[in-house]
Amino acid sequence: MTGWWERWFAGPGRCCLCGGPHRVTPWAGVWDRICMSCRGRLHRIHLPVCPRCGRGGTRGTTCEDCIHHPPGVLERNVAVLRYNAYAKELIRLFKYRGRECLALPLAEMMAERVFECGIRANALVSVPLHEDKLRRRGFNQSELLAREMGRLLRLPLIPVLVKVSPTLPQSRKSRRERLKALRGAFRVKPERIPGADQGTWLLTDDVYTTGTTLLECARALKAAGADRVCSVTLAR
Ligand SMILES: [Zn+2]
Ligand SMILES: [Zn+2]
Repeated sequence: MTGWWERWFAGPGRCCLCGGPHRVTPWAGVWDRICMSCRGRLHRIHLPVCPRCGRGGTRGTTCEDCIHHPPGVLERNVAVLRYNAYAKELIRLFKYRGRECLALPLAEMMAERVFECGIRANALVSVPLHEDKLRRRGFNQSELLAREMGRLLRLPLIPVLVKVSPTLPQSRKSRRERLKALRGAFRVKPERIPGADQGTWLLTDDVYTTGTTLLECARALKAAGADRVCSVTLAR
């Protein structure tokens, strides 16, 4: 049974992910704006998580992936969803089918996670696309997420990272091969960022798989003088 205020204000409404009918008050938080069907298909990562990559189900201890490689320049990643079939589908719709209206709810989930995990960043920086890829796709999904997050967290989005070499398809490569292929792929412009040595830079991307892209971006930021680099991704 819904309260009179909900009947009064909600109207039929729509799920913010699938667009299906979903009754909700306009000011409801992101999870309440998602319909039951979508909620059932998403696997939300519950805290505590792996302190390095943000993977769930580890009861706060370092996960089996992270334990096998030394801590890198990326201090910490946090993520919202497990990278299951529905999370993949959402990212595909957003990234390749241009469903840009997904940027706000996805960014809202990410901003909420950053806040819950106590990450206090000074600026956001998105993972860049190589200019050829950007031209083909028309937009950078990480930047779109970062822009919405910046609005929600009241943080500036500073576009200092550039991807200087294109990445070849690397889904079958090992972590070590990926790292080698990405070495030097990102640059910071200008080479020294004024004020970078204070506080935390928060990188944004859609998914953390092996973490190599974020690690390389963090390396470039650190080389340009960044004090601390953390990251947030939608999925892990
Ligand atoms: Zn839905
Ligand atoms: Zn981990």
